[in-house]
Amino acid sequence: MQKIVTLKPYALITPTASITTGTHGGRAKCLQRLIRLDMPVPTTVALSFDTVHHIAAGQMPDMDTILKVFGPDPLVSVRPSSEDPDWGGPGAILNIGMTAARHAAMCETLGEAAATALYLRFIQAYAIHVARLDPEMFDLPVKPDAAALDHALFAYSEETDEAFPQDPAVQLAEVLRSMARAWEGTTARLLRQAKGAPADAGLGLVVQQMALGVGLVESGSGVIQFVDGSTGLPQITGRYLSQSQGRDAIAETDGALYLTRDPRGRSLEELCPDWIARLVDYGQICRDKLREEMQIEFTLEAGALSILDAVRVQRNSRAAVRIAVTLAEDGVIPTDEAVMRIEPLALTELLHPQIDPAAPRDVVASGIAASPGAATGRIVFSSSAAQASAAQDQPCILVRRETTPEDIRGMHAAQGVLTERGGMTSHAAVIARGLGLPCVVGTSGITLSHRKKTLMTPQGRSFKEGDVITVDGATGEVLAGAMPMLQPALDDAFRSLLTWADRARDIGIRANADTPEDARLARHFKAQGIGLCRTEHMFFQDDRLTVMREMIFANTPEDRQSTLDQLLPMQRRDFVEVFEIMQGLPVCIRLFDPPLHEFLPSDRQELRDLAESLDKPIADVTRRVEQLSEFNPMLGLRGVRLGITVPEIYDMQARAIFEATIEASKNGDAVVPEIMIPLVSARREVELVKTRIDAVAAAVHNESGAEFDYRLGVMVETPRACLRADEIALHSAFLSFGTNDLTQMTYGLSRDDAGRFMSDYVNQGVYREDPFHTLDTDGVGELLMLGAERGRKTAPDIMLSVCGEHGGSAESISFCRDAGFDYVSCSPYRVPVARLAAAQLALSRPLTDR
Ligand code: PEP
Ligand code: MG
Repeated sequence: MQKIVTLKPYALITPTASITTGTHGGRAKCLQRLIRLDMPVPTTVALSFDTVHHIAAGQMPDMDTILKVFGPDPLVSVRPSSEDPDWGGPGAILNIGMTAARHAAMCETLGEAAATALYLRFIQAYAIHVARLDPEMFDLPVKPDAAALDHALFAYSEETDEAFPQDPAVQLAEVLRSMARAWEGTTARLLRQAKGAPADAGLGLVVQQMALGVGLVESGSGVIQFVDGSTGLPQITGRYLSQSQGRDAIAETDGALYLTRDPRGRSLEELCPDWIARLVDYGQICRDKLREEMQIEFTLEAGALSILDAVRVQRNSRAAVRIAVTLAEDGVIPTDEAVMRIEPLALTELLHPQIDPAAPRDVVASGIAASPGAATGRIVFSSSAAQASAAQDQPCILVRRETTPEDIRGMHAAQGVLTERGGMTSHAAVIARGLGLPCVVGTSGITLSHRKKTLMTPQGRSFKEGDVITVDGATGEVLAGAMPMLQPALDDAFRSLLTWADRARDIGIRANADTPEDARLARHFKAQGIGLCRTEHMFFQDDRLTVMREMIFANTPEDRQSTLDQLLPMQRRDFVEVFEIMQGLPVCIRLFDPPLHEFLPSDRQELRDLAESLDKPIADVTRRVEQLSEFNPMLGLRGVRLGITVPEIYDMQARAIFEATIEASKNGDAVVPEIMIPLVSARREVELVKTRIDAVAAAVHNESGAEFDYRLGVMVETPRACLRADEIALHSAFLSFGTNDLTQMTYGLSRDDAGRFMSDYVNQGVYREDPFHTLDTDGVGELLMLGAERGRKTAPDIMLSVCGEHGGSAESISFCRDAGFDYVSCSPYRVPVARLAAAQLALSRPLTDR
């Protein structure tokens, strides 16, 4: 028969009491650990989650038995003890047990002022938190005398029609009830759920003997910690305040002492050096045994030191990394545990500037947080204005309805990007992430007037070109004015953590990198190669755009060849540089993908400029632009379709890749380029392109006499390519899933327009998340699995990867790992996050376990 174990409604915390974080909360468990470490913790009783739940429902445990633990004249505090301290809980209430009789007795031992101050403090807390009276009526007086006490007691009885309770058992019962009910209230529940707590998270409570911090001999209270919460470096910080309780020493700086000797003022070390020495010892014991940097709350009462509580030091991301790494370096925790302690996304805070969290924010609009980091600058409404601003060293924020490839130069020149339209994989978002630029897209509600050069916010505030704003790409907020920033920190602790992560990791991480600058970043962040080099971005630089446009306007194959001959050395130079930077690591180059019309001008002035440079009438230029325009360009003549209808472009690119391979291999490690064909939907497309690329390789080999190797693969980004992966794999060395287009086509959802209604869809639960942001493992994921399985059926050793924007997130890495993929590729700035997330998956779920 199953034994039913009933927990006692409360437990005295002793070294052996049955107390766990999951039944009594983190504070109760921590206090037990401190007791086991022989620290002078006052007598404490822990109430379990169940007990507190019953209390909220009106079933009280017997107060007298609890209070008996604290002797004939109990004086106690009650503090919350939730499972995770970040979930919050009601504030502590001190001095329960203060009554008229106790006050009179204390006047003898402590003096009237001290006794009255204690009583008043309890009346205030009880009136506000238990009786729920107006806080203003119970402000603490400057002078805690008999008149002030009478006034407070009178105010209490006037407001409640009852005298202030004089039975400690009644006082305690009411305090416990109010705390239990506060926890179960809707606001508190929603707040903690926002911090990740489950809906049914429990609250424990601890009832602790008061260690007064008030007395005739030196008495007081304080808080001490041994590292700095913003750098993680060793430093004793905190304060001590004579004749005080709780956390007064840090709340009221007047009269508070520094802990160690300090040029700014008096310190506890000068007053009582022995106590500081003991506190430092306790800090060291906590660090070694609790394996964490703790903040200790203490009191001194007539020469006796008490440790009331210890909590994890509050820390920002930078300090969290430094603390975890230092604990591992000191042998306190294993390196794997340090890797597990850091939330991967927190690393983005270390890679980009952040708005100082302490600064007040004037939020004027918000949209989708598309690329992390924050930037302040003057508003510019065009790429040319961004470039002009950069030329004058004026930081700027490029504000556009949406960006197009032509805006790349403007984005390079800007400090941040804000668009009215778009979603997580729209042009602005993808490019900004690659460049590491803060970016907010899909800012619904703002109205841009390019003619008047104004931005109107949803509340009707108007900003004009030149006005200063700040974009926060981490929250999606747009703020008026400049904001104070915290700068990024890639220090030795960050590097050590990621080195340990790489030791544990069992899936490759590459970077999406389009230019030599991106490749340098990819190396800097220790990507294991480039998983996607979008070559078209190389054509948007000034000198090339003109040649590109000439190529598009060429009327004869000869004219086209001659413009491609001009582009060839430029492409070759790009590839040589990228190969040299990557030093033998794999580089996957995607052949030209976008529709040609993206390279053509759209406004009148640019059409005129182009007509001039081509020496053609403007009507011819306009006609050609119209001819190339498509109803649905993302599903039109792009990717491999262009490769088949205008094959000379891919021929030129293949030649540039092979010639660069030969050149880069001369000076460094042998390069084995990977060439990827985009937007494939049929086997025959691969066959046709492969035949031509093999022919170019043979020609380059014959001309140069050089030996080189290469791998040709397919970007799987149409649903049909997934379904037909078995026959496509026959001609491919690898399949790389482009989950941006695949998501777009699986849902029939435009990457560039979905931002307009995505928040409605997510808010109403139609989609759990934005599928361009979080991989849809059900639908798109099924296609990935199917493609992988069918591809492997005909080509068991085929290399599999994901190179869409989802690549860097923990959920998609987990999915790809489970499916046995070889690597994921993501924007360079995302690489450290992906390395850490992949390591945590490997440590928490080793492949052999599955
Ligand atoms: C994709 O479609 O997933 C992809 C990586 O390519 P792009 O974003 O350039 O279309
Ligand atoms: Mg694509």
